[in-house]
Amino acid sequence: MPITILDYVKSVVGDKPLYTAEDCLRNGVDILGSCQVCAATIACYNAYPSTSGYWRCADCIGEDGFATVADFTTHTSRTACPACGNTDTITETRITTTDQADEYALECGDCGEVWQP
Ligand SMILES: [Zn+2]
Ligand SMILES: [Zn+2]
Repeated sequence: MPITILDYVKSVVGDKPLYTAEDCLRNGVDILGSCQVCAATIACYNAYPSTSGYWRCADCIGEDGFATVADFTTHTSRTACPACGNTDTITETRITTTDQADEYALECGDCGEVWQP
């Protein structure tokens, strides 16, 4: 089976007898969500992050999950600011590139860094 959101939280927080909502929220994941496919309510221990960026339940994750926590973090870390590492204040923007094209970019609300993913 692919990893669950809880596996990810465990890898960051370390082994604990109980994981709280705080543990999840502090690491940028919700404690409750719904499956992208069947809309079942799922919690972090049975929610599987998919490559689409949405959560799925055990029945719907199929081949779209992440085999390891490292795969998951590599995939999601694209949205972290390359300058300050912030992941909370990233917004989408448009920039004019050197050849006058209008292109998609991301902007960090914290330090003002603008980059193209
Ligand atoms: Zn489902
Ligand atoms: Zn930044």
